[in-house]
Amino acid sequence: MEIKSAKFVISNTRIDKCPQDGKPEYAFIGRSNVGKSSLINMLTRKPKLAMTSATPGKTMLINHFIINDAWYLVDLPGYGYAQRGKKAKDKLTQIIETYILEREQMTNLFVLIDIRHEPLAIDLEFIEWLGENGVPFSIVFTKADKLGTQRQRENVERYLAKLREQWEELPPHFVTSSEKGVGRAELLGYIDEINSSLFRVESLELRV
Ligand code: GDP
Repeated sequence: MEIKSAKFVISNTRIDKCPQDGKPEYAFIGRSNVGKSSLINMLTRKPKLAMTSATPGKTMLINHFIINDAWYLVDLPGYGYAQRGKKAKDKLTQIIETYILEREQMTNLFVLIDIRHEPLAIDLEFIEWLGENGVPFSIVFTKADKLGTQRQRENVERYLAKLREQWEELPPHFVTSSEKGVGRAELLGYIDEINSSLFRVESLELRV
């Protein structure tokens, strides 16, 4: 898929204020500093579309971007801010959970994991929660350029082995580097495939 246009639409904390046109949404989430903004900018080839960590403020919000006037890329708040107080954390959890569980348009959630780190409880617990709630998700390993090919493979394998302890079937996974543009074609191809299948279902429904 080619990205012909990528535009910021709206930021907010409530799903009833999110766009109501029913277009499919692909959301991105991960611990702060995992490389989420960099990935969004790499995918859209707009270096300033998502604010990187150096720009605080938008980090507590659900940010919608419209791509090719056809689907939304959704930048969700990062989880696991050590320095936030309990109240702020609870509020953040509530924003994230409400979006993930109640937003019908959310077609797939990409969970970002820093490829260098060993499996962290906070991510594993979040993934487990997604599974328990039947949320469609995929795993995106970030910052692959920080490791050699062999270490990348080992770390991905270690992560998947950890997930296999819990799950019989593993979610799709992608290895990416925003620095080098790695994984861009694969991620966009995956989104395109899902969009095409949604369109096929829609046209079948129209025919009935
Ligand atoms: P966010 O908090 O998840 O949005 O993370 P950012 O996108 O702001 O990235 C956090 C830090 O990691 C920044 O210093 C980025 O330059 C760096 N970073 C992000 N992605 C990559 C990557 O693919 N390769 C490398 N080498 N650094 C990255």
